[in-house]
Amino acid sequence: MDLPAEPLPPETPSDERLRPGPDAPIMLIPIGEVDEALIGKTVKPLEEAFHRVVTISKSLPVPKYAFNPTRGQYHSAAILKRVEELRAQEWDAAIGLVDVDLFVPEVPFIFGEADRSTRSAIISLTRLRSESGPSESRREVLTKRLVAEAIHQVGLIRGLAQCPNNRCVMFFSATVQDTDKKGAGFCANCRKRLMSEG
Ligand SMILES: [Zn+2]
Repeated sequence: MDLPAEPLPPETPSDERLRPGPDAPIMLIPIGEVDEALIGKTVKPLEEAFHRVVTISKSLPVPKYAFNPTRGQYHSAAILKRVEELRAQEWDAAIGLVDVDLFVPEVPFIFGEADRSTRSAIISLTRLRSESGPSESRREVLTKRLVAEAIHQVGLIRGLAQCPNNRCVMFFSATVQDTDKKGAGFCANCRKRLMSEG
């Protein structure tokens, strides 16, 4: 007599199982000395872009461990690793914010990077600063660039790709001029994709 087969558990794709629920917050993590008032200005635009609660966590220490004396810059991957270690399962995304110059080995510098598999990212304010103009308008420019960069990185975590449309926030910025031109809004394609990804 054949024994009834044990029912198999329903198959769940791993990313589906790890996907945080609709109430999961986006967590902003200041690292080292960062202007927290400036970080605070990204909260509302991020909430509006992703329909998630955005929370600023307590800060992590200055990332001395990531400093490369030859380059005079900080290794992005080493700092991103700390952000990944901190990310709690119930967070939608963990975004580390630093005010040091970041690099990855192949390129002179990066504004930031994201790792979709760990739902973590890192952003540097350093290269987003404007060199000219009165301090009030410089701060305004920096805020706009930071908002665009933060939405771009969370967009990558949420499954969007780099977008060929240079007016879309998901366009890859090689320079701050690219960032100023694209702004913080999604193109119709990316918006549609974001809504279908949930
Ligand atoms: Zn787009």
